[in-house]
Amino acid sequence: MRESLFFLFFAVCFGSLGSAKPPNFVLIFTDDQGYQDIGCFGSPLIKTPNLDEMAAEGRRFTDFYSANSVCSPSRAALMTGCYPTRVGIPGVLFPGHKTGLNPDEVTIAEILKSEGYATACIGKWHLGHKPSFLPTRQGFDSYYGIPYGNDMTIDPEMSLAEDILFREGFTAERVRSEKPRKNLVPLMRDEKVIEYPCDQTTLTSRYTKEAVEFIGRNIERPFFLYLPHTMPHIPLFASAHFKGKSKRGLYGDTIEEIDWSVGEIMKALKEYGIDHNTLVIFTSDNGPWKLGNGRGGSALPLRGFKFQTYEGGMRVPCIMRWPGKIVKGSYCDKVASTIDLLPTLAGLAGAKVPEDRVIDGYDIWPLIAGQNGAKSPHRMYYYYRGRSLESARSGKWKLRRTGKKNATVELYDLENDLSETKNLKAENPKLVTEMLQQMEAFHQSLIKSQRPAGKL
Ligand code: MG
Repeated sequence: MRESLFFLFFAVCFGSLGSAKPPNFVLIFTDDQGYQDIGCFGSPLIKTPNLDEMAAEGRRFTDFYSANSVCSPSRAALMTGCYPTRVGIPGVLFPGHKTGLNPDEVTIAEILKSEGYATACIGKWHLGHKPSFLPTRQGFDSYYGIPYGNDMTIDPEMSLAEDILFREGFTAERVRSEKPRKNLVPLMRDEKVIEYPCDQTTLTSRYTKEAVEFIGRNIERPFFLYLPHTMPHIPLFASAHFKGKSKRGLYGDTIEEIDWSVGEIMKALKEYGIDHNTLVIFTSDNGPWKLGNGRGGSALPLRGFKFQTYEGGMRVPCIMRWPGKIVKGSYCDKVASTIDLLPTLAGLAGAKVPEDRVIDGYDIWPLIAGQNGAKSPHRMYYYYRGRSLESARSGKWKLRRTGKKNATVELYDLENDLSETKNLKAENPKLVTEMLQQMEAFHQSLIKSQRPAGKL
């Protein structure tokens, strides 16, 4: 008896019973998908049965924020657990830029890799496309995808693979000599271009295939799969099977194809018998484009769009699923953010968060697990636009300050006025002054400890 207890002790400690194996993480990150654009977040026309099932088996976060309203800063924040302005990425990076996320920053992937995780980035990176800034230099074992926005161009200096697939009559010579054209973007594997211009119609299905294969190759060891979809950023593309099928135009088609992709990933996790040891997170990098004729997404009932610090620009749909650990069909209405994912995943993997620098995010496992009385760790959550701290939320109160001289100040009660329609600043002068003071103090402290972007 004593011997078998002894064995049990060792088995549990050293993982031979399986329970001590660190969890896998799948982080699905869409591009410019609006708050409303999932069935279970209220979309009247877009059908997302797989995401709805994921929510029914997991938890919806109704007050979840990206850390910026545009792509690169939002991703810098996700990767580092910091407000993007702190890590020197306040705005969007372009193919002409020689900057990127500083290799001295510690990314989620680096933290997990140091714990023995297999790591892959499949999709849109957008934190620098020059070799020293690519995912393969920032903690990912492999990379497959378009390195920035799908509306951008190629950088003629990019390294082309020997067996590159040229389409539309392109040649290496033409890539090097012609003026790059908008919407014609490179598809990369690791650090080389493997297809130009990328056929974007099959991109979501190809990302999915890569993701499922990565999962299949790593069922024996913990893994971190980061899947930042290129869609539904414009220009929009869907494969033949989804094009023209949704009731919400091409935009809806792209979301329905992403929903299919989520279903394929869930199916793989279940078939390999690892879904009970896998935390899957689905969210978006920022709010939807403001476009006419239903070409863009919807953040309703929130006010505003991408590029703005109204709720619609930064509050994003978020679902998490982990059978046995997350209560089925539950929801969380506490403030949480993409900057919290680095500390949270590090904690679950048994890794340490860097202690030699400021990290803005918090371990939100108590919120994810639905622990009794769990509160948002963000006494105040900050909304940066470029280098400006434009808005802040404290509990139900949201303060927004825009313009320099004669600044416009808005105060909203998000609990009773989710759509930010009634400016209550005149009724609450003391609260306005206090929030403005706290914002200024935070901004000054951030500026003092700001870290530089990587530069060639
Ligand atoms: Mg985006």
